[in-house]
Amino acid sequence: MHKDIATPVRTKKILEKYGFSFKKSLGQNFLIDTNILRNIVEYAGLTGESGAIEVGPGIGALTEQLAKVCKKVVAFEIDQRLLPILDDTLSPYPNTKIIHQDVLKANVKDVIKEEFTEIEDIMVVANLPYYVTTPIIMKLLEEQLPIRGIVCMLQKEVADRISAKPGTKEYGSLSIAIQYYTEAETVMIVPKTVFMPQPNVDSAVIKLVKRKEPLFPVKDENFFFTVTRGSFIQRRKTIINNLMSALPNGKEKKELILSALSEVGIESNRRGESLSIEEFAKLSDALYPYFHETTV
Ligand code: SAM
Repeated sequence: MHKDIATPVRTKKILEKYGFSFKKSLGQNFLIDTNILRNIVEYAGLTGESGAIEVGPGIGALTEQLAKVCKKVVAFEIDQRLLPILDDTLSPYPNTKIIHQDVLKANVKDVIKEEFTEIEDIMVVANLPYYVTTPIIMKLLEEQLPIRGIVCMLQKEVADRISAKPGTKEYGSLSIAIQYYTEAETVMIVPKTVFMPQPNVDSAVIKLVKRKEPLFPVKDENFFFTVTRGSFIQRRKTIINNLMSALPNGKEKKELILSALSEVGIESNRRGESLSIEEFAKLSDALYPYFHETTV
Protein backbone atom coordinates (compact mmCIF):
# COMPACT_ATOMS: atom_id res chain seq x y z
CA MET A 1 0.00 0.00 0.00
CA HIS A 2 1.22 3.50 -0.82
CA LYS A 3 0.94 6.44 1.55
CA ASP A 4 -1.97 8.65 0.52
CA ILE A 5 -1.06 11.91 -1.19
CA ALA A 6 -3.86 13.78 0.54
CA THR A 7 -2.46 14.23 4.02
CA PRO A 8 -1.04 17.54 5.25
CA VAL A 9 2.38 15.98 5.87
CA ARG A 10 2.75 14.18 2.52
CA THR A 11 1.33 17.15 0.57
CA LYS A 12 3.81 19.55 2.22
CA LYS A 13 6.67 17.15 1.48
CA ILE A 14 5.72 16.91 -2.18
CA LEU A 15 5.36 20.68 -2.53
CA GLU A 16 8.73 21.26 -0.86
CA LYS A 17 10.50 18.62 -2.92
CA TYR A 18 9.47 20.41 -6.12
CA GLY A 19 9.53 23.98 -4.77
CA PHE A 20 5.93 24.36 -5.90
CA SER A 21 4.12 27.62 -5.19
CA PHE A 22 0.32 27.86 -5.52
CA LYS A 23 -1.17 29.99 -8.27
CA LYS A 24 -4.31 31.62 -6.99
CA SER A 25 -5.26 32.58 -10.56
CA LEU A 26 -5.57 28.86 -11.39
CA GLY A 27 -7.81 28.12 -8.42
CA GLN A 28 -5.19 25.91 -6.78
CA ASN A 29 -6.62 24.73 -3.46
CA PHE A 30 -5.49 21.16 -2.93
CA LEU A 31 -7.40 18.67 -0.81
CA ILE A 32 -5.50 17.30 2.17
CA ASP A 33 -8.17 15.05 3.69
CA THR A 34 -8.37 11.48 2.46
CA ASN A 35 -11.80 10.86 4.00
CA ILE A 36 -13.39 13.69 2.03
CA LEU A 37 -11.81 12.34 -1.13
CA ARG A 38 -13.08 8.83 -0.47
CA ASN A 39 -16.57 10.24 0.07
CA ILE A 40 -16.41 12.11 -3.24
CA VAL A 41 -15.35 8.93 -5.02
CA GLU A 42 -18.13 6.98 -3.31
CA TYR A 43 -20.78 9.47 -4.42
CA ALA A 44 -19.64 8.89 -8.00
CA GLY A 45 -20.67 5.22 -7.69
CA LEU A 46 -17.68 3.90 -9.62
CA THR A 47 -16.70 0.26 -10.08
CA GLY A 48 -13.69 -1.57 -11.42
CA GLU A 49 -15.29 -1.30 -14.86
CA SER A 50 -15.77 2.49 -14.75
CA GLY A 51 -13.75 5.31 -16.23
CA ALA A 52 -13.23 8.68 -14.57
CA ILE A 53 -12.41 12.03 -16.11
CA GLU A 54 -10.83 14.50 -13.74
CA VAL A 55 -10.41 18.23 -14.24
CA GLY A 56 -7.36 19.67 -12.51
CA PRO A 57 -5.53 16.82 -10.74
CA GLY A 58 -3.16 19.18 -8.86
CA ILE A 59 -0.59 16.85 -7.25
CA GLY A 60 -2.87 13.84 -7.72
CA ALA A 61 -4.79 13.65 -4.42
CA LEU A 62 -8.15 12.79 -6.00
CA THR A 63 -6.62 11.06 -9.02
CA GLU A 64 -5.03 8.53 -6.68
CA GLN A 65 -8.32 7.70 -4.93
CA LEU A 66 -10.07 7.37 -8.30
CA ALA A 67 -7.29 5.14 -9.65
CA LYS A 68 -7.78 2.79 -6.71
CA VAL A 69 -11.41 2.07 -7.59
CA CYS A 70 -11.86 2.46 -11.30
CA LYS A 71 -10.41 1.01 -14.43
CA LYS A 72 -8.92 4.18 -15.85
CA VAL A 73 -8.57 7.85 -14.93
CA VAL A 74 -7.87 10.59 -17.47
CA ALA A 75 -7.12 14.02 -16.02
CA PHE A 76 -6.79 17.43 -17.69
CA GLU A 77 -4.26 19.74 -16.04
CA ILE A 78 -3.50 23.25 -17.30
CA ASP A 79 -0.41 23.94 -15.16
CA GLN A 80 2.75 22.57 -16.73
CA ARG A 81 4.67 22.79 -13.41
CA LEU A 82 2.48 19.98 -12.05
CA LEU A 83 3.38 17.47 -14.77
CA PRO A 84 6.70 16.20 -13.30
CA ILE A 85 5.07 16.07 -9.86
CA LEU A 86 2.16 13.98 -11.15
CA ASP A 87 4.61 11.72 -12.97
CA ASP A 88 6.17 11.01 -9.62
CA THR A 89 3.12 10.85 -7.30
CA LEU A 90 1.02 8.75 -9.68
CA SER A 91 3.80 6.34 -10.67
CA PRO A 92 2.18 3.53 -8.64
CA TYR A 93 -1.01 3.92 -10.72
CA PRO A 94 -0.50 2.88 -14.35
CA ASN A 95 -4.23 3.28 -14.98
CA THR A 96 -3.92 7.09 -14.89
CA LYS A 97 -3.23 9.43 -17.77
CA ILE A 98 -2.58 13.17 -17.55
CA ILE A 99 -3.41 15.44 -20.47
CA HIS A 100 -1.70 18.81 -20.32
CA GLN A 101 -4.50 21.04 -21.57
CA ASP A 102 -7.03 23.67 -20.56
CA VAL A 103 -10.18 21.59 -20.24
CA LEU A 104 -12.22 24.44 -21.73
CA LYS A 105 -10.24 24.10 -24.96
CA ALA A 106 -10.08 20.31 -24.97
CA ASN A 107 -12.01 18.03 -27.29
CA VAL A 108 -13.32 15.86 -24.48
CA LYS A 109 -15.50 13.77 -26.79
CA ASP A 110 -12.47 12.65 -28.83
CA VAL A 111 -10.47 11.98 -25.67
CA ILE A 112 -13.26 9.74 -24.39
CA LYS A 113 -13.33 7.88 -27.70
CA GLU A 114 -9.59 7.33 -27.63
CA GLU A 115 -9.02 6.64 -23.96
CA PHE A 116 -12.13 4.80 -22.87
CA THR A 117 -12.53 2.12 -25.50
CA GLU A 118 -14.48 -0.72 -23.91
CA ILE A 119 -15.50 1.41 -20.92
CA GLU A 120 -19.19 2.22 -20.78
CA ASP A 121 -19.66 3.83 -17.40
CA ILE A 122 -17.89 7.19 -17.34
CA MET A 123 -18.12 9.88 -14.65
CA VAL A 124 -16.49 13.27 -14.37
CA VAL A 125 -15.11 13.66 -10.85
CA ALA A 126 -13.27 16.81 -9.80
CA ASN A 127 -12.32 19.37 -7.24
CA LEU A 128 -12.89 22.22 -9.67
CA PRO A 129 -10.84 25.40 -9.98
CA TYR A 130 -13.32 27.91 -8.55
CA TYR A 131 -12.65 30.69 -11.05
CA VAL A 132 -14.18 28.64 -13.87
CA THR A 133 -16.66 26.24 -12.25
CA THR A 134 -19.72 27.24 -14.26
CA PRO A 135 -18.08 27.31 -17.72
CA ILE A 136 -16.55 23.89 -17.09
CA ILE A 137 -19.82 22.28 -15.95
CA MET A 138 -21.78 23.87 -18.80
CA LYS A 139 -19.21 22.75 -21.37
CA LEU A 140 -19.36 19.16 -20.12
CA LEU A 141 -23.16 19.12 -20.24
CA GLU A 142 -23.70 21.01 -23.50
CA GLU A 143 -21.26 18.85 -25.45
CA GLN A 144 -23.49 15.84 -24.81
CA LEU A 145 -20.65 13.58 -23.83
CA PRO A 146 -21.26 9.89 -23.19
CA ILE A 147 -20.93 10.36 -19.41
CA ARG A 148 -23.27 9.23 -16.61
CA GLY A 149 -22.79 12.42 -14.67
CA ILE A 150 -20.55 14.72 -12.70
CA VAL A 151 -19.55 14.74 -9.03
CA CYS A 152 -17.57 17.84 -8.15
CA MET A 153 -16.40 20.15 -5.41
CA LEU A 154 -17.22 23.81 -5.95
CA GLN A 155 -18.15 26.99 -4.06
CA LYS A 156 -21.14 26.34 -1.79
CA GLU A 157 -22.84 29.45 -3.14
CA VAL A 158 -22.71 28.05 -6.69
CA ALA A 159 -23.83 24.60 -5.49
CA ASP A 160 -26.86 26.29 -3.88
CA ARG A 161 -27.74 28.04 -7.12
CA ILE A 162 -27.31 24.87 -9.19
CA SER A 163 -29.64 22.76 -7.07
CA ALA A 164 -32.15 25.55 -6.22
CA LYS A 165 -35.89 25.08 -6.61
CA PRO A 166 -38.34 27.69 -8.00
CA GLY A 167 -39.43 30.41 -5.58
CA THR A 168 -36.07 30.61 -3.78
CA LYS A 169 -33.61 33.45 -4.07
CA GLU A 170 -30.92 31.08 -5.37
CA TYR A 171 -33.10 29.88 -8.27
CA GLY A 172 -32.07 31.33 -11.63
CA SER A 173 -30.94 30.60 -15.15
CA LEU A 174 -28.01 28.48 -13.87
CA SER A 175 -30.39 26.22 -11.88
CA ILE A 176 -32.54 25.81 -14.97
CA ALA A 177 -29.68 25.21 -17.40
CA ILE A 178 -28.20 22.47 -15.23
CA GLN A 179 -31.44 20.85 -14.05
CA TYR A 180 -32.65 20.75 -17.65
CA TYR A 181 -29.86 18.24 -18.37
CA THR A 182 -29.37 16.61 -14.96
CA GLU A 183 -30.83 15.69 -11.60
CA ALA A 184 -28.85 17.94 -9.30
CA GLU A 185 -28.20 17.40 -5.63
CA THR A 186 -25.82 18.90 -3.07
CA VAL A 187 -24.39 15.86 -1.29
CA MET A 188 -21.79 17.34 1.06
CA ILE A 189 -20.87 20.65 2.66
CA VAL A 190 -17.13 20.87 3.10
CA PRO A 191 -15.17 22.98 5.61
CA LYS A 192 -12.31 25.24 4.48
CA THR A 193 -9.87 23.34 6.69
CA VAL A 194 -9.55 20.38 4.31
CA PHE A 195 -7.78 22.50 1.68
CA MET A 196 -4.24 23.77 1.29
CA PRO A 197 -4.25 26.76 1.02
CA GLN A 198 -7.71 27.36 2.50
CA PRO A 199 -10.10 29.08 0.08
CA ASN A 200 -11.97 32.25 1.09
CA VAL A 201 -15.38 30.72 0.51
CA ASP A 202 -17.27 27.68 1.80
CA SER A 203 -17.36 24.60 -0.42
CA ALA A 204 -19.78 21.84 -1.30
CA VAL A 205 -19.90 18.69 -3.39
CA ILE A 206 -22.68 18.32 -5.92
CA LYS A 207 -23.82 15.27 -7.80
CA LEU A 208 -25.31 15.74 -11.28
CA VAL A 209 -26.84 12.68 -12.91
CA LYS A 210 -27.62 13.15 -16.57
CA ARG A 211 -31.24 12.65 -17.59
CA LYS A 212 -31.94 10.18 -20.36
CA GLU A 213 -34.11 12.88 -21.96
CA PRO A 214 -34.13 16.60 -21.16
CA LEU A 215 -36.67 17.39 -18.42
CA PHE A 216 -39.16 19.02 -20.79
CA PRO A 217 -37.95 18.78 -24.38
CA VAL A 218 -38.21 22.09 -26.23
CA LYS A 219 -38.32 23.11 -29.90
CA ASP A 220 -35.01 24.95 -29.72
CA GLU A 221 -32.62 24.65 -26.76
CA ASN A 222 -30.66 27.81 -27.57
CA PHE A 223 -33.83 29.85 -27.65
CA PHE A 224 -35.01 28.21 -24.39
CA PHE A 225 -31.77 29.31 -22.71
CA THR A 226 -32.14 32.82 -24.20
CA VAL A 227 -35.62 33.01 -22.68
CA THR A 228 -34.55 31.71 -19.27
CA ARG A 229 -31.46 33.92 -19.05
CA GLY A 230 -33.49 36.89 -20.26
CA SER A 231 -36.16 36.31 -17.61
CA PHE A 232 -33.61 36.86 -14.83
CA ILE A 233 -31.76 39.89 -16.25
CA GLN A 234 -33.23 41.95 -13.44
CA ARG A 235 -34.60 39.64 -10.80
CA ARG A 236 -37.00 42.21 -9.39
CA LYS A 237 -38.60 42.98 -12.74
CA THR A 238 -41.68 41.18 -14.06
CA ILE A 239 -41.34 38.51 -16.71
CA ILE A 240 -42.89 40.72 -19.40
CA ASN A 241 -40.47 43.59 -18.72
CA ASN A 242 -37.45 41.32 -18.70
CA LEU A 243 -38.49 39.54 -21.90
CA MET A 244 -39.17 42.85 -23.66
CA SER A 245 -35.57 43.90 -22.90
CA ALA A 246 -33.99 40.51 -23.56
CA LEU A 247 -35.58 39.28 -26.78
CA PRO A 248 -34.71 40.78 -30.18
CA ASN A 249 -37.12 43.67 -30.92
CA GLY A 250 -38.85 42.73 -27.68
CA LYS A 251 -40.32 46.17 -27.11
CA GLU A 252 -42.03 46.23 -30.51
CA LYS A 253 -43.20 42.66 -29.98
CA LYS A 254 -44.78 43.32 -26.58
CA GLU A 255 -48.24 42.19 -27.72
CA LEU A 256 -46.86 38.94 -29.12
CA ILE A 257 -44.98 38.21 -25.88
CA LEU A 258 -48.16 38.92 -23.92
CA SER A 259 -50.13 36.57 -26.13
CA ALA A 260 -47.54 33.78 -25.71
CA LEU A 261 -47.66 34.25 -21.93
CA SER A 262 -51.45 34.05 -21.90
CA GLU A 263 -51.43 31.05 -24.25
CA VAL A 264 -49.49 29.05 -21.64
CA GLY A 265 -51.33 30.51 -18.65
CA ILE A 266 -48.51 32.58 -17.16
CA GLU A 267 -49.49 35.98 -15.79
CA SER A 268 -47.32 38.73 -17.22
CA ASN A 269 -46.65 40.32 -13.84
CA ARG A 270 -44.97 37.22 -12.41
CA ARG A 271 -41.22 37.18 -11.82
CA GLY A 272 -38.83 34.70 -13.42
CA GLU A 273 -37.98 33.13 -10.09
CA SER A 274 -41.58 31.91 -9.67
CA LEU A 275 -41.65 29.92 -12.94
CA SER A 276 -40.94 26.20 -12.95
CA ILE A 277 -38.70 24.68 -15.62
CA GLU A 278 -41.82 23.20 -17.25
CA GLU A 279 -43.40 26.66 -17.45
CA PHE A 280 -40.22 28.06 -19.03
CA ALA A 281 -40.23 25.21 -21.55
CA LYS A 282 -43.84 25.89 -22.53
CA LEU A 283 -43.25 29.62 -22.67
CA SER A 284 -40.17 29.22 -24.83
CA ASP A 285 -42.08 27.01 -27.30
CA ALA A 286 -44.98 29.51 -27.41
CA LEU A 287 -42.62 32.44 -28.05
CA TYR A 288 -40.50 30.56 -30.58
CA PRO A 289 -42.63 31.17 -33.73
CA TYR A 290 -42.75 34.94 -33.02
CA PHE A 291 -38.97 35.17 -32.93
CA HIS A 292 -38.15 32.75 -35.72
CA GLU A 293 -40.65 33.77 -38.40
CA THR A 294 -39.24 34.16 -41.89
CA THR A 295 -39.32 37.81 -42.88
CA VAL A 296 -41.03 38.43 -46.20
N1 SAM B 1 -7.59 17.78 -7.70
C1 SAM B 1 -6.63 18.47 -6.85
C2 SAM B 1 -7.03 18.33 -5.42
O1 SAM B 1 -8.22 18.10 -5.19
O2 SAM B 1 -6.19 18.50 -4.55
C3 SAM B 1 -6.47 19.96 -7.25
C4 SAM B 1 -7.74 20.76 -7.31
S1 SAM B 1 -7.48 22.49 -7.50
C5 SAM B 1 -8.96 23.12 -6.76
C6 SAM B 1 -7.83 22.82 -9.22
C7 SAM B 1 -6.81 22.30 -10.23
O3 SAM B 1 -7.28 22.63 -11.54
C8 SAM B 1 -5.42 22.88 -10.15
O4 SAM B 1 -4.48 21.83 -10.26
C9 SAM B 1 -5.30 23.81 -11.37
O5 SAM B 1 -3.99 23.96 -11.85
C10 SAM B 1 -6.21 23.10 -12.35
N2 SAM B 1 -6.83 23.97 -13.39
C11 SAM B 1 -7.19 25.26 -13.29
N3 SAM B 1 -7.78 25.69 -14.41
C12 SAM B 1 -7.81 24.63 -15.27
C13 SAM B 1 -8.28 24.43 -16.60
N4 SAM B 1 -8.88 25.43 -17.26
N5 SAM B 1 -8.14 23.22 -17.18
C14 SAM B 1 -7.54 22.20 -16.48
N6 SAM B 1 -7.08 22.33 -15.23
C15 SAM B 1 -7.20 23.51 -14.62
